[in-house]
Amino acid sequence: MGGPEIEHLNSLLAKLPGMGPRSARRAALKLLQQPDKRMLPLAVALAEAARAVKTCSVCGNLDATDPCTICADPHRDRSLICVVEGVGDLWALERSTVYRGLYHVLGGTLSALSGVGPEDLNVETLLKRAGAGEAHEIILALGATVDGATTAHWLSDRLRPSGVTVTRVGQGVPIGGTLEGLDDGTLAAALRGRRSA
Ligand SMILES: [Zn+2]
Repeated sequence: MGGPEIEHLNSLLAKLPGMGPRSARRAALKLLQQPDKRMLPLAVALAEAARAVKTCSVCGNLDATDPCTICADPHRDRSLICVVEGVGDLWALERSTVYRGLYHVLGGTLSALSGVGPEDLNVETLLKRAGAGEAHEIILALGATVDGATTAHWLSDRLRPSGVTVTRVGQGVPIGGTLEGLDDGTLAAALRGRRSA
């Protein structure tokens, strides 16, 4: 159906989060029917983003500059570092505008089941930042999952020698939930309700 070009497009789209074979075919059709209005601008945007966007060497965020816009912003509160699992969580907090400190993207959580160990996470740079003296509080904003809780415990043990205050986000993150899925009000409440880790 439609030749190898269309099949290739379908199979690439089907690999995106939230997409299955059926929604991929629908998306491909939409693009193919409006090549000038939808498909070419998307192709250009993808190529530009692939070329320009990199991982911030300080916090692990994605941005066209390194350090990223947040790390380089002189108006951010540099005494606060909020540790999140992924860039999606950082985006959720930024969208909600409840937080004006800095971030640190771990790149996941420790997981015995999936074989994720400390060496697979962005931990060493966090310990360096904690020891550098600028941060006074490190907020662990990890998901309310078993792995999230394990990772928070492990991190607070590792961070303790640096002398910074380590806190965890409070009530509001539903069990098994991630930050990314929360509405702005719940995120704000979770941040306000943070407690000593
Ligand atoms: Zn950064």
